[in-house]
Amino acid sequence: MACGADLNRTRLAPSPTGPLHLGHAFAALTAARLADPGQFLLRIEDIDQSRCRPEYETLIARDLHWLGLNWPQPVMRQSERLPAYQDALDRLAALGLTYPCQCRRADIRAALSAPQEGAAPIIGPDGPVYPGTCRHRSMTDAGPEDAIRLNMARALQHLGTDEIAFLDENITPGIPHRLSASDIIQGIGDVVLARRGMGSSYHLSVVVDDAAQGITLITRGKDLFDSTYIHVILQKLLQLPVPRYHHHRLIRDESGKRLAKRDDARALGLYRDEGRSPDEIRQMLGF
Ligand code: GLU
Repeated sequence: MACGADLNRTRLAPSPTGPLHLGHAFAALTAARLADPGQFLLRIEDIDQSRCRPEYETLIARDLHWLGLNWPQPVMRQSERLPAYQDALDRLAALGLTYPCQCRRADIRAALSAPQEGAAPIIGPDGPVYPGTCRHRSMTDAGPEDAIRLNMARALQHLGTDEIAFLDENITPGIPHRLSASDIIQGIGDVVLARRGMGSSYHLSVVVDDAAQGITLITRGKDLFDSTYIHVILQKLLQLPVPRYHHHRLIRDESGKRLAKRDDARALGLYRDEGRSPDEIRQMLGF
């Protein structure tokens, strides 16, 4: 029997923007398997209220229960956590590491395609790396139309580190994944910490919430692998524990494309309505 310190605490953190599909089932079953012995939690990532729907949250719970999964109540919901995100933002701002940004996507594209920028834009985990147009701005001048960005060069300088490293238990276990400070600045850049009108961003919320829930092993798809460097930087800046990671394979369709919520054909509810059993879904996914 494992002692308390060895127990994993994992989570599934879906956004209620559509029905769960086979890819979510794989993520959920992976998290639940790795939490045995330990605890599997569900967290609802609904900060983007324009895309999230309560009815999808109900379906998520129904599908996961059907698969045989259970989790403690109450479930954490990001839409109820804005004060915690604001507190984290205030701490980063007090360190002088943030700035307001009024650039829209089109402004960023235009700045990146300007002749003086030269080479093709570098694509980071959140899309084209931000060219730094608003970096000179001060937080005292932040308004409701602004997003808030992390000044990545300053953040790394504050940490006094020339690289960021983390361990993944699934991809080359035991060998740290490393990225140098200059590669992070050039290849990831000044990420958004709070989106316009939203009070937070995926990166900030996930870091604050994983720490608040005491998650020790973060399981999620390999598509989020590069974002983990951002999360480790935020964990260190906010003096939060750095958990272990397990980035799992992605479930793809016959043409090799990753399943998305719009791929309703792979929705778990449809398999259930066709009379498939949870065991069949597990077998289909190799569990
Ligand atoms: N909310 C994210 C998603 O639905 C998952 C975030 C995470 O696991 O870190 O893809």
